[in-house]
Amino acid sequence: MAQREKFVYRFDEGGKEMVDLLGGKGAGLAEMTKIGLNVPPGFTITTKACIAFLKNGGFPEGMMDQVMQALHDLENRVGRVFGDEKNPLLVSVRSGAPVSMPGMMDTVLNVGLNDSTVEGLAFMTDNRRFAMDAYRRLIQMFGEIVYGLPHEEFREKIEYVKKTRGYDEDRFTVQDLQGLIDQYAVIYRKHGKVFPQDPQTQLVESIKSVFNSWNSKRAVAYRKMNGIRDDMGTAVSIVAMVFGNMGDDSATGVAFTRDPNTGEKKVFAEYLTNAQGEDVVAGIRTPKYIDDMKNEMPQVYADLMKTCDILEHHYRDMQDIEFTVERGKLYLLQTRTGKRSARAAIRIAIDMIDEGIISEEEALMRITPSTFDRTMHPQVKTTGRETPLGKGLAASPGAASGMIVFSSERALEIGKTKKMILVRPETTADDVRGMAVCEGFLTQKGGMTSHAAVVARAMGKPAVVGVESMSVNANEKTLTIGGKKLREGDVVTIDGTSGYFYEGELPVEKPTIDEYSKRLLEIADRYRRLGIRANANTPEEAKIARENGAEGIGLARTERMFLGNDRIGIMRSMIMSETAEERKKYLDQLLPMQIHDFVEFFRTMEGYPVIIRLLDPPLHEFLPNKEDIIRQIYDINSGNGNRDDLPYLERLLKTVRDLEEFNPMLGFRGCRVGLVYPEIYDMQVRAIIEAAARVIDEGRVIYPEIMIPLVGHHNELKKIRARLEETARSVKNHEKVKYKFGTMIEIPRACVTADKIAQYADFFSFGTNDLTQMTFGYSRDDAEGKFMFFYLENGILESDPFSSVDRDGVGELMKMAVERGKKTKPDLEVGICGEQGGDPDTIEFCDEIGLDYVSASPHRIPVARLAAARSNIVRNRPEMDQVAKY
Ligand code: PEP
Ligand code: MG
Repeated sequence: MAQREKFVYRFDEGGKEMVDLLGGKGAGLAEMTKIGLNVPPGFTITTKACIAFLKNGGFPEGMMDQVMQALHDLENRVGRVFGDEKNPLLVSVRSGAPVSMPGMMDTVLNVGLNDSTVEGLAFMTDNRRFAMDAYRRLIQMFGEIVYGLPHEEFREKIEYVKKTRGYDEDRFTVQDLQGLIDQYAVIYRKHGKVFPQDPQTQLVESIKSVFNSWNSKRAVAYRKMNGIRDDMGTAVSIVAMVFGNMGDDSATGVAFTRDPNTGEKKVFAEYLTNAQGEDVVAGIRTPKYIDDMKNEMPQVYADLMKTCDILEHHYRDMQDIEFTVERGKLYLLQTRTGKRSARAAIRIAIDMIDEGIISEEEALMRITPSTFDRTMHPQVKTTGRETPLGKGLAASPGAASGMIVFSSERALEIGKTKKMILVRPETTADDVRGMAVCEGFLTQKGGMTSHAAVVARAMGKPAVVGVESMSVNANEKTLTIGGKKLREGDVVTIDGTSGYFYEGELPVEKPTIDEYSKRLLEIADRYRRLGIRANANTPEEAKIARENGAEGIGLARTERMFLGNDRIGIMRSMIMSETAEERKKYLDQLLPMQIHDFVEFFRTMEGYPVIIRLLDPPLHEFLPNKEDIIRQIYDINSGNGNRDDLPYLERLLKTVRDLEEFNPMLGFRGCRVGLVYPEIYDMQVRAIIEAAARVIDEGRVIYPEIMIPLVGHHNELKKIRARLEETARSVKNHEKVKYKFGTMIEIPRACVTADKIAQYADFFSFGTNDLTQMTFGYSRDDAEGKFMFFYLENGILESDPFSSVDRDGVGELMKMAVERGKKTKPDLEVGICGEQGGDPDTIEFCDEIGLDYVSASPHRIPVARLAAARSNIVRNRPEMDQVAKY
């Protein structure tokens, strides 16, 4: 006989390694059962059953038999019977996918109640009010989830009772609840439905609904946004009900074992007494905090603290748990790895190293470069004189300004054309798509674990939630606070780090790197092989780069130094010169300025290498635009302007016309200019050697490196090197200066002939901007604005090769260049200085192909340090890639 497939696992049969089959919730419940925590008994229907159900439109054969068998077993354990009028067993039917999708799928509580079992429950618990409350919740949840009846219609009924009675729903009386149940029946009827009295039908329909919720619109959208596979399915856990709504000694709540916003080692919990299930997360009533629990339920508080500690050590990570307190006894209903803000992720990783829970490598692997990057997000810059509009909970750090919109639909309509802040009474899973196009969120209700807060942290966007003093009217599209009314289109600034929000647009500033980030980066520095340098064109940028941890300058583009007001005129005169003599005259004027620049650079980067690249761009880039010159000439000829300027302007125009090219990026630029007008590079080399000699005379140790751009043939470099060495030798005190001489590798031919080029170079630096441009044949200045978006949208390219190196094409050329170059010169120094050098994927690639360093813009240095460490760890220990990442 073929062995029957096992679709159902009791909690004591599973474990945390069975996440794929039992889902996160099922596996967590099983694991907690295994380690002896107080979990109500239950069982889990596998994700495989869900996949089969969704494929065939019905339960797989044998599944329901196994469910009934497990249910029977559950009855025996609890000593109650499902559907029994006197002693009814009630269960919850909970969703739980292998990957956490908070709030995306459905759960039905109190399954098993009907008009007669509710009497049994009332009798058994001696609490009629409680029984009625549980029953009305089942009818509501079942209606919403199984039949898709509108949530608002049920809420309206509750709000009506609240308003007429003048008390909150935890104080509703038996009569109130009976009235509510009758009203709910009206809602059902209105939609042509009847609440099923048969518990078995309730169970079957609830399971189906949870299975189907895997394919709900919002779940599909969430998966798409988070890159989660569609074929995993959800498991369903059936759990014996415990009740948080049995009176003031009962409660329901959620807890994070550490503060999910700051990472502080302090249990962060929110709970509601005399409430059930989703009440806390839904943000319907404003919850109480852990300190209240200490006073209100000291024993539960102590148990909760102990449980959090056990779970954290067991899972070696911060946990997000759901619990229920039934008549003073703590039950655990879920544990999962807690979502956290980027800042919290870093602090938790560092603290856990110190607490001996995780290793340094694990800590580095937990923090993704993009998470780290988020901590370097803007903060509202206040002068202290601004009056905030209000304050709520600082639920997700960062700052954002934008026009307010009151619904996700509206946000989607407007799209990304405007910066928007979504303002809602509270958000739900249906808002996720709209939230994706907004800069930040502001809600009237909800706590730190509310939907808006959790989603904001996951998206890395700022959120201020639970602003009790604000009233949001989504229909009228207004928010009112402190006598002020704002409407759609009005601009606000929210500060998710402080919880304040302001009218209008406030300036924002980048935060400094805090002590935990600093520690993480220091650790990263010990684990990376790659050197990290910076692209800096001014000594000021070099300073920032050094503060951020750069170990040298990988690229100083000297052309930027000729653009200052005191220099551009001289530069233009030099370009307009007709003879070498004339050019030299102007170059002599530029020389002291260049010396000054380089002195500053060398001083700032004392002890570190500085690669100075000689002039690269086409000369026309230093001249005014042709149309402007023609207009000026025209104006003068029409009687406006000074006729004395005419000869200069005409000469300028002639030069611009002479320099005009069809393809300037493939034209007279880089070393080609250096070869045709060697006096330009002569001046630059003289400046470098003179500056270096001066700084060395100050007693400083420096490492100058001279780099030639756009070399495609080894003869170019051979000729330039010979001349420049001679020039260097002509400088006074030159013998004090040890310098390297090298080249950019940014033309495909240079990669192919790297062995020959290496004969004349001490170092290579990949200019992947030009190399990508010339390998793909895409203009680096035009592609993004023209077709790149289309290519990415349509999957022609997976990623923008100007952001992240194209491994298959450009990358292969780089590999070839490294191999061939090192064959000629084994100690050849090789790095990258194209924009992609700051991109984590590119850094990983550069590590793989054995580059010595990457060079990135100064603000990307911290992330590059982390990315380089992670890459090295995974190269040496591939299993480290399995570590949970935040
Ligand atoms: C490059 O081409 O990658 C490079 C760094 O040089 P530039 O961007 O100045 O052309
Ligand atoms: Mg270039």
